[in-house]
Amino acid sequence: NVRVRFAPSPTGPLHIGGVRTALFNYLFAKKHNGTFILRIEDTDQNRYVEGAEQYIIDALNWCNMPFDEGPRISAEAEMKKGPYRQSERKHLYKQYADELIASGNAYYAFDTAETLDFHRKDHEAKGKTFIYNWHNRLKLNNSLSLSAEETKAKLEAGDDYVIRFKSPQDETLHLNDMIRGTIKIDTNILDDKVLFKSDGMPTYHLANIVDDHLMEISHVIRGEEWLPSLALHYQLYKAFGWETPEFAHLPLILKPTGKGKLSKRDGDKLGFPVFPLEWKDPKTGDVSRGYKEDGYFPEAMVNFLAFLGWNPGTEQEIFSLNELIEAFDLKKVNKSGARFDPDKTKWFNHHYMQEQDNDVLAELFKAERSELVQIDVNYIAMVIGLIKERATFVSDFWALSHFFFIAPTSYDEKASKKAFKDDTKAILEEVTSIVNKVEDFTVENLQTEIKGWITSNEIGFGRVMMPLRLALVGALQGPEVFDIMFMIGKAETVKRIEKVIS
Ligand code: GLU
Repeated sequence: NVRVRFAPSPTGPLHIGGVRTALFNYLFAKKHNGTFILRIEDTDQNRYVEGAEQYIIDALNWCNMPFDEGPRISAEAEMKKGPYRQSERKHLYKQYADELIASGNAYYAFDTAETLDFHRKDHEAKGKTFIYNWHNRLKLNNSLSLSAEETKAKLEAGDDYVIRFKSPQDETLHLNDMIRGTIKIDTNILDDKVLFKSDGMPTYHLANIVDDHLMEISHVIRGEEWLPSLALHYQLYKAFGWETPEFAHLPLILKPTGKGKLSKRDGDKLGFPVFPLEWKDPKTGDVSRGYKEDGYFPEAMVNFLAFLGWNPGTEQEIFSLNELIEAFDLKKVNKSGARFDPDKTKWFNHHYMQEQDNDVLAELFKAERSELVQIDVNYIAMVIGLIKERATFVSDFWALSHFFFIAPTSYDEKASKKAFKDDTKAILEEVTSIVNKVEDFTVENLQTEIKGWITSNEIGFGRVMMPLRLALVGALQGPEVFDIMFMIGKAETVKRIEKVIS
């Protein structure tokens, strides 16, 4: 019974690394007919950011990765293994910290921030790193160095404390990761991590393990930055006597240069979004770009994210969400970092653009341009059919198609020099009369008549088609001239030609 969770902290918008983690969890769950759970890890109240939870939910929904269990679905869903916000599970954690104290796997520590700071600096000065572990545990102000009475007195006096995990001495842990295989860790290098604080809140480590256990998580799939916590998590499962889930740590996402981890700040610096949706910082009001608002299709986003660290082992690059579910295999996920390539994201979007329904695109295009308000969507959809091959985003449409909607007001200078010769006026006059005579105004008829006239008079295509195109478009670009004529209609075609020869 596969149960996986995506467990973001609502400290701001999800960046693409987070969405990739969610996607791999989603794919794995669906592949194994399992359950995809969203758990909001909001135990750190200082880092809580207004709106971040809703953003996470909106982003998952936009990517078409709805969760099966999680906050804000329904009361019924909440009942299953919920609540799914750690702040609403607050009351649960203390008993587990107590349990670890009772079993000797954890202890109270009363060190002040100043004391810890002193030790850190003192070690640094000697070129060492301060580790709060078996080696110096007894020198520190904790229940292992105090008598039971002293500890009790401090607790009763309301002294600040933390509960720390008691990491063992001289053991070698064998951790298993589905992507990396077995990892050996010497416990002597491990810190006695804080599990619980006197403000009544658990730390990430305790809450995460308790919730994964209570929510019956079978596989923990998360970013590589959590690999250093794996040793502690393994030990916690062991200390509780709980079954350990399988772990898979996904590779880092690297900057386009391949050097260093892609960061939230890279987007602005390098000119591409790093967030799925636009995000407005509630404190500063700063707006960060999102893939959605930049004109990406969710299918493209999902497809390019899937290839950040995974590949099917074949040449196939285009995968729908369902195909990804089918093909996905955690064992094919790479250990090494995945370079993020913004050009490739565009390549995917261009592909999915071609697959979109022209009617849907027409609505999007219409919403973007005030010039199109009065124009029939069917006409717009037909135009899109002619130009979308060269478009990556809906925002590219206007530059590629404005002449289908409004007559050119200026003519490209260089192109004019090239296209307009001494005989151009006479040629276009002839074209006008041919156009006027075409009764059934179809692409085929226009083509037959005009091309026929060109060949029988041996004029040369360029001498006719270049000025004609310029008259219709204003530049030497655009789709087939006959398509343009057909679309704008006879009267408009004649009008545009007459304008350049008058
Ligand atoms: N709350 C952690 C995060 O923000 C979750 C890590 C995990 O999946 O264990 O990434």
